[in-house]
Amino acid sequence: MKRPKLSVVVPCYNEEACLELLHGRISAAAHAAVGEDYEIVLINDGSRDASWKVMQRLSEADPRLVAINLSRNHGHQLALTAGLDLCSGEEILIIDADLQDPPELLTDMRAAMKSQGADVVYAVRRKRDGETIFKKLTAAFFYRMLDRITDTPIPLDTGDFRLMTRRALDAFLSLPEQARFIRGMVAWVGFKQVPFPYDRHERHAGESKYPLGKMIRFALDAITGFSTAPLRFASHVGLLLTGASALLVLYILIGWLFGAAIPGWTSLMLVVVVLGAVQMFVLGMIGEYLGRLYVESKRRPLYLVADVAGPVRGHASLGYRFEDSGEVSVSPQTVRSETGQ
Ligand code: UDP
Ligand code: MG
Repeated sequence: MKRPKLSVVVPCYNEEACLELLHGRISAAAHAAVGEDYEIVLINDGSRDASWKVMQRLSEADPRLVAINLSRNHGHQLALTAGLDLCSGEEILIIDADLQDPPELLTDMRAAMKSQGADVVYAVRRKRDGETIFKKLTAAFFYRMLDRITDTPIPLDTGDFRLMTRRALDAFLSLPEQARFIRGMVAWVGFKQVPFPYDRHERHAGESKYPLGKMIRFALDAITGFSTAPLRFASHVGLLLTGASALLVLYILIGWLFGAAIPGWTSLMLVVVVLGAVQMFVLGMIGEYLGRLYVESKRRPLYLVADVAGPVRGHASLGYRFEDSGEVSVSPQTVRSETGQ
C-alpha cells in the first residue's frame, strides 16, 4: 500500500453545521501543502444530528474523504484514537471539527517540522477567542498543576491540534490504554517535539461539546494517567496528622498534670470530622485509580466502527472494524490472547 503524504484526522460530535466549511478549508489547505496526495479522515462519534449524513454526502463527491461512523458516542479522545488508528498518511494533522484551529496553518507547521527536523509540531494557544473566563482559568490552572505533578513534560496550553510523522504516530498507537489523554501520550512518546504558537479562534457554529462533567473526567484521566502523586498524598497527610496528634497528646498530658479541665465535645467532634473527611477523600482518590485499573483489566477494544464511507486504508489495531462483507478484523490483543501467547 502506498501511503498518502498527509492524513488530516478530525473527530466530530454533532458538528453538522461545521462539516461543509471544514471540508472545504481542509481540502484547500491540504492541496496547498501536498497537492493531491492526501486523505481527510472524519470520525462521526455517535452524533445525534445529521453529521453522518453530511459526511456520506461529502464522501460521495470527494474520493479523498474517508468517513468513519462509530457505533456510538465513544468520547473525543477515543474518537480521535479511531481516526489515528485508521488513517494511513506519512504525516498526520490532528484538528478539531469546529474550526477553532485554522487548517491554513498546515503549511507553516510543515515548514517548522522540516526546518527543525521534528517529529511532532504541537500548536500552543497564545489566545483563546470566544471561550469563557471560567474555561480559560481552569485550563490555565490545570495544565500548570499537571506539569508539577507529572514526570512527563506535557506542554502547557496545548490541545490536540498538531502535526506528527508516521513514526511518532506508530509509537503513539503502541500505547494500548483505555483512559487516553492524547496530548500527554504523544508527549510521552518523545522524539523531537517543537511548539508552534497560534491564536485560537471562536467556534464556527454550535457549542462546546465539553460540559463541566466531561472536563472533570478528562482532567482526572490526565492526572491518573500521568502521575501517582495523589496516591502519595495519603502518606503526607498521615504524617501531618501524626504530628498533630502528638501535640494533642502533649496538651492532654499537661492538662492532666495540672488538673485543668479539658473541654470534651468540641475537640472530639473536630477530630472525628477532620479524620472522617480526610479518610473519605483519600479513599476516593484511591478509588479513581482502582476504577481505572478495573476498566483497563477488561481489555475491551477502544472503539467500534459501524460503517465507513470512502477508502479506509489503516488497520483497526486498537478497535474493531466491521467490514462490509460482515467479517470482523480482530485487534492484535485479542488474537494474542486467543492463541494463548
Ligand atoms: N468531540 C467528539 N466527541 C465528543 C465530544 C467532542 O468527537 O464526545 C469532538 C468535537 O466534535 C470537536 C472536538 O472533539 O471536533 C473538540 O470538542 P469541542 O470543540 O466541543 O471542545 P472545546 O474546543 O470546547 O474544548
Ligand atoms: Mg472546540
